[in-house]
Parts: sequence; structure tokens; C-alpha cells
Amino acid sequence: MNKKTYGRKNVHEKTRNRGKSRRARQQAVYIRAGVGILLILTVALGLYSCISGTGRASGMIDTDASQPEIDVQLLDVNPYSRPGTEIEKINGIVVHYTANPGSTAQNNRDYFEGLKDSHETKVSSHFVVGIDGEIVQCIPSSEIAYASNSRNSDTLSIECCHLDETGAFTDATYTSLVRLTGWLCYRFNITSEDVIRHYDVTGKICPKYYVDHPEAWEQFKEDVEEQIKVVEQEVLAAGEES
Ligand SMILES: [Zn+2]
Repeated sequence: MNKKTYGRKNVHEKTRNRGKSRRARQQAVYIRAGVGILLILTVALGLYSCISGTGRASGMIDTDASQPEIDVQLLDVNPYSRPGTEIEKINGIVVHYTANPGSTAQNNRDYFEGLKDSHETKVSSHFVVGIDGEIVQCIPSSEIAYASNSRNSDTLSIECCHLDETGAFTDATYTSLVRLTGWLCYRFNITSEDVIRHYDVTGKICPKYYVDHPEAWEQFKEDVEEQIKVVEQEVLAAGEES
């Protein structure tokens, strides 16, 4: 090292020391500004949560307020009706009819359960809506069912019971189906446009009445859209009460 270098070093040292005290002052300013911003954010967030109550996208919503009554009778995990495979993401709801006139929701649920022993075929559904409007859940909405072919991986399925070969739903079945579908749409943040018939997936005549009567299907989707709004209002009201 030569003298020149020493000299330069000293100059650097001084500059650094001056820099240090300037930095310290700057840091103090930054800290004060940071604390101020944090305070403002805290107050703003507090106000926002007071005003908005519960938000749809917050993941903290209380949807119990408008959940239709559901009789949960989960199937045993088995390769024929409940594979236990996690659903990727729920992008839609597929509506079916049982094609078994007069059978009840319980009959259909028990049939799915029996497949674990009979090995007859692979079929199931998340929900079955009965002739009296009863709703039985067979598979959790976090897992896939065997109902809708290529859309099993990203949809929930609803089987509907019916009285005769026309496949028309009773008023009670229809009402429960609208309530269940509307609630599921709200819960999983999808719209009535994401509600489809099995027919829309594979061309299978299912649910028969709504393949034969496309205008009735359009009406159903409108009723679901209305129901989503009802659920939104109910959840909002429940949030304000609590
Ligand atoms: Zn079907």
C-alpha cells in the first residue's frame, strides 16, 4: 500500500462517517413515515371490515345462513363410487336425473354405497335430491364423484329423482334443486352459466326433461341466478346481525 492509497482511505472514512449520520437521520424519517402509514392502514382496514361485514371472497363467510337442509350420508371410500380423489377446482355443477322412476334419494345413495361390494359399475353423485325435496349428500365437495365423465375432475354433481318416464321433477324436487344449486354457486364462486346438464358434457339424454325442454332449462338457470342473489342477501343480513 502506498501513501496515496492511505490518504484516499481516510477521505473515504470521513465520507462514510458523514454518510452514517445522514443515513441515521434518514432512517428515523423512514421509521416515522412507516409507523404513520401502518397506523393509517390499520384504521382503514378496521373501518373497511366494519362497513363490509363479510365478504364473498374473504373465505370467512358464514354461508350456513342460507344452506338448505342436507342429510349428509357420506359413502365409504371405495374404487366404485367414492375414489377419494381430491377435486382440482370447482368450475361447474352438473345436473342429472336418476332414470329410475319412483326411486328415492335414499335408494340412490344406498345403491352407490352398495357398489363397493357389488362392483357392478362405477357411478355416484355428490348430492341426490329426492321426490319430496330431501337432499342427501354422498360425497364431500372436496372430492370427485363418478357422474359426469370428463367433467368429474372439476364439477359437483346433483342427481334428481323423478316420478315417471318423462323425467319431470316434482315441485319439491325443483325447489330444493334451485336452493342447493344457488347455494353451491355462491359458495364456490361460480355463476348460473357454469351450471350444465350431463347432456352438455356427453350428449347423453340426461336430465331427460331438460334435454327435451331446453326452455325449461333456461328458466331453471334464471331461477338459480335469482337464488344466488337471495343467498347473497341472506349471508349479508346474517353478517350484519352477528
Ligand atoms: Zn347423468
